[in-house]
Amino acid sequence: MEFSAHTLGPERKDWEPLFTPACPTLSGQLCEACQNLDPKHGHLNKVAHLAATFAAEMFPPGPNRESAKQWAHLAGLWHLTQPVILRHSCCEVPSCPRKSNT
Ligand SMILES: [Zn+2]
Ligand SMILES: [Zn+2]
Repeated sequence: MEFSAHTLGPERKDWEPLFTPACPTLSGQLCEACQNLDPKHGHLNKVAHLAATFAAEMFPPGPNRESAKQWAHLAGLWHLTQPVILRHSCCEVPSCPRKSNT
């Protein structure tokens, strides 16, 4: 079964997938689809990428930056199952899958 994060219209083909297993960021590589916020790319992947980017910018180059980046990446991947860790405004829309679980 394929899960969707956000429904962008009545057609399922327009919905944003929840997760893309083949995303290069999952193995620490740069992902162009995440970078460009590709609407056909996994929502969790893109949030993880953005969270990691923001967190890394808060520290100078070094081990602290790498740690912050890795933790933020995990928080981004988990944000629908662990909403306390990281919430963002797009999860407030009624179609967010989190809503149907509560
Ligand atoms: Zn990606
Ligand atoms: Zn979200």
